Amino acid sequence: MSTVASLDLLPEVIQFLAQRPQSSWVGGQTVQSTGQLTFASLDPGSGEKIADVADLDAAQVDQAVDDAGQAFPGWSGLSKQQRHEILQRLASAVEDRLPVIAQIESLEAGKIESQAHGDIQNFVDTLRYFIDLDAGVSNREPMTIAGHEAWSYRHPWGVCGFIFPWNFPFLLIGWGVSPALVAGNTVVIKPAEETSLSAIYLAQLATEVGVPNGVINVVTGRGETAGAALAGNSKIKRMSFTGSPEVGQLVGAACGRNLVPVKLELGGKGAAVIFEDVDIADTAEKLVNAITFHTGQVCCDATRWLIHKDVFDEFLDQCKACLEKIRIGHPLDPKTTMGPVVNKTQRNRVLGYQEKGVDEGAECLFGGGVAHVEGYSGNYVRPTLLKGSLKNTAAQEEIFGPVAYMASFETEEEAVAMANDTDYGLANSVWSTDKNRAARVAESMIAGNSWINAHNVFPLGVPYGGVNKSGLGGGVLSIETLMDYYRSVSVVRPLS
Ligand code: NAD
Repeated sequence: MSTVASLDLLPEVIQFLAQRPQSSWVGGQTVQSTGQLTFASLDPGSGEKIADVADLDAAQVDQAVDDAGQAFPGWSGLSKQQRHEILQRLASAVEDRLPVIAQIESLEAGKIESQAHGDIQNFVDTLRYFIDLDAGVSNREPMTIAGHEAWSYRHPWGVCGFIFPWNFPFLLIGWGVSPALVAGNTVVIKPAEETSLSAIYLAQLATEVGVPNGVINVVTGRGETAGAALAGNSKIKRMSFTGSPEVGQLVGAACGRNLVPVKLELGGKGAAVIFEDVDIADTAEKLVNAITFHTGQVCCDATRWLIHKDVFDEFLDQCKACLEKIRIGHPLDPKTTMGPVVNKTQRNRVLGYQEKGVDEGAECLFGGGVAHVEGYSGNYVRPTLLKGSLKNTAAQEEIFGPVAYMASFETEEEAVAMANDTDYGLANSVWSTDKNRAARVAESMIAGNSWINAHNVFPLGVPYGGVNKSGLGGGVLSIETLMDYYRSVSVVRPLS
């Protein structure tokens, strides 16, 4: 059986993993759990332990919020230019260390290394995007109001809290904290238990490049203790949560009690509507890539494939041909095209939904069950295609694995109704060479995002967020997100 020690790790990664236990990072310093408690971080590809991580209690999280509060006047008091220069240094440092961070991320999240590279570069691009955007924001904005001199003045809020999931640990930190930091807020980040390491690395790097102590704090710990303490801290001025709808409700309720504005970026059950006029082979390849990308652990994935009845069989054959080529393996093996799911719980969830789907009448057209990878006892599953009525648990609930549920339609109206028959509302796609039809369908699907002839596309500047069970609070990645991290005071002087 292969072990982590036998993997070809970079010397910097080996050195970083030698820090035992891995500590939180608060006020520019390492923090261990008060009771010396830790939890294990595992390599999803081998099941082996790679680190022990400090398990902070609620009082320690409160202390981190206080430390971030103390750093706020200094950070927000810098000129925009000074702040931006420091953050540019952080972006460049992350870019310089990209292979190291990518390997840590790959090892801990089970993400194939080339994808991890893309995620880390995405962090850098996002941070630079928000720095550039903020450079053009004027804090004092005059208003033309008859009989009055009026303007609004933008201030940063103060301490902002962030709770993240395990599927895109580093990329989501970039999406979340970049607008907050450029605007002059300080942040407390709670990564998922499964993936604390890249966040810890980031906080250490931030201190190394001169981000003032207390501006970026990372509290590691369990959701129900550290996460709940952060969500319920009344000194937080803005909260952002990315994760499941179930925990999102708890975080939203805690913020509601303190009247803290909150962004909730939650799960999805996206549809891909495939019309009869598409290039079948090309569409099949792109959707197979979407469902196997990060082993289907992607909130906005296309997990319900709605296919025009005239091309269903041909589309299915092409998908099977593409799926046959998927190479399941350890995420650090360069030949791997699909890695493991993150942990045993997630594997059981994926297998459980497959079983329930079939019990409720779905047909398994491809795959199903666990995958065996020579030399590794990680959490591997086979990519799977199910087909049947959409009134099936596997067609309605988020599986978060490489499973697509297929159904056919006859008319455009039927396709839109099927796509909208869900509690979620994150992202869908429509596939057609008829531009008008594609635009019509894209606009009719109830979700934050509709893509045409593509799935999972995130150009910086296009708002990304969900509606209904997929979230609230305005989303991420755009000018609106930056404005969310400013509070405005309206100033009015009557002229007579
Ligand atoms: P999760 O909700 O179980 O956990 C997310 C985070 O919340 C973790 O850091 C966890 O420790 C913390 N947490 C758990 N209990 C808590 C509590 N009581 N109070 C406060 N925090 C608590 O989600 P997950 O399993 O890590 O991630 C998968 C989910 O995330 C999926 O539903 C996926 O669709 C969603 N997701 C959404 C987006 C998006 O942009 N919309 C992006 C990525 C993932």
